[in-house]
Amino acid sequence: ADHCFDYPAHPDEYNWSNLYPALHGNSEVEFLDVGCGYGGLLVTLSPMYPKQLMLGLEIRVKVSDYVNDRIQALRVQHPEMYQNIAVLRTNAMKYLPNFFHKGQLQKMFFLYPDPHFKKAKHKWRIINKWLLSEYAYILAEQGIVYTITDVKDLHEWMVVHFEEHPLFERLSKGELESDPIIEKLYESTEEGQKVTRNNGDKYVAVFRRISDKWKD
Ligand code: SAM
Repeated sequence: ADHCFDYPAHPDEYNWSNLYPALHGNSEVEFLDVGCGYGGLLVTLSPMYPKQLMLGLEIRVKVSDYVNDRIQALRVQHPEMYQNIAVLRTNAMKYLPNFFHKGQLQKMFFLYPDPHFKKAKHKWRIINKWLLSEYAYILAEQGIVYTITDVKDLHEWMVVHFEEHPLFERLSKGELESDPIIEKLYESTEEGQKVTRNNGDKYVAVFRRISDKWKD
């Protein structure tokens, strides 16, 4: 239950240097992997963007403990590397504005999110109208949201919700080609590797956080 989750009243009250002991200072988390599972994406992106702080959110305690152990072991094996990734156990559907300032994030990742197939369970999908406004709030303008799933119905659901939201637009195929992260969405994570083993399909959709027209 949620009473197990510790969360700050405000992002500045959280002790970020615990998560990134070698890199504390003025930098803030810029990449967020929502429902990071076993952490494969963080481990892949860490050396690609060594200056950016990245955080995985994971609700399952055993899984988040595993990711933490994995990162600590990598830091011991490669003392100059993997200082920019960390994991936090929390419910990403509830506390994001407690952890991140408005406009803080450059990238958010939703890789193979739980599909919640039954209609009565759709409200548990991590992409929905209400949560998209929260994601838009913590994303920087021009920030990017990456999604991939093997479930066609969920892919279509995510596309419709992002396209209907006034603060997001979908990136074109051409725009995707120049982004080195795209190819990493398919195989970096444990779930992506499982889908490959089962010969599943993979559907990618990427969106940009556009600027707030009403602002000025
Ligand atoms: N992204 C990973 C991958 O590609 O391997 C994991 C995919 S797995 C199907 C979905 C993950 O999201 C699970 O590890 C689950 O525990 C986590 N999750 C589900 N709901 C969550 C929530 N509300 N907050 C944080 N994590 C959540």
